[in-house]
Amino acid sequence: MFVNTLHKITIAIDGYSSCGKSTIAKALAQRLNYNYIDTGAMYRAVTLYALRNGLIDTQNKPSFEALIKTLPKIKVDFVFNPHTKTSETFLNGENVDKEIRTMEVNENVSKVSAVKEVREKMVALQRQMGKNKAVVLDGRDIGTNVFPDAELKLFMTADQKIRAQRRLDELSSKGDYHELEEVLQNLLKRDYEDMHRKENPLIQAKDAIVLDNTDLNKEEQLEFVLKLIADMQLTKDEQ
Ligand code: C5P
Repeated sequence: MFVNTLHKITIAIDGYSSCGKSTIAKALAQRLNYNYIDTGAMYRAVTLYALRNGLIDTQNKPSFEALIKTLPKIKVDFVFNPHTKTSETFLNGENVDKEIRTMEVNENVSKVSAVKEVREKMVALQRQMGKNKAVVLDGRDIGTNVFPDAELKLFMTADQKIRAQRRLDELSSKGDYHELEEVLQNLLKRDYEDMHRKENPLIQAKDAIVLDNTDLNKEEQLEFVLKLIADMQLTKDEQ
């Protein structure tokens, strides 16, 4: 699929947990030579910091006062790894790309990402990182809140059992073994919390295009999105 790479655009990918958002976002960024920003990784890094420093009281009703006070000390950024050809997540200078994908982080990240002050800080960073366009961002509120003017918005979904199996495989490949049912329940709980929080909940933007990848492989999804971009450019050229 030929895509004119001269029109630099912003691509916003939102959707449910473990829909393969990051897989397609990374593939698109590589193909278009765009930057990729994994916004979920940023909330995960803050969650890891909070867990490591005992800033979440998991026994009682969670309190985030301590975390909010500590926010100025938390620095999250991405560093491009030329070997893997992807950006890796750094927390205060430490590469935490693996550590942010454990079940413990999965279980706490939606609570942390619902905290208004955490979101304000992360959204400001994301807008800064993506301000020059030529960027693909994936998350939950990109098309509705972070970049509501993004030229292309996708909303991804897939069958929940397939999503759980994909996440289980990802965890197992890192030696982190769980039951499918546990992973499924975590996904559903996270989706529920993400959709029902007060601050920037997960909702489909009105102008988003739905991509259900239950029966699509990576190449088919990539073709689908590249065609959308090529069609957009044709329409723009005709105007
Ligand atoms: O995409 P990923 O599963 O890594 O995201 C982890 C969590 O981060 C989500 O469940 C959600 O709670 C939070 N998140 C968010 N807003 C975003 C991206 C992720 O609230 N833009």
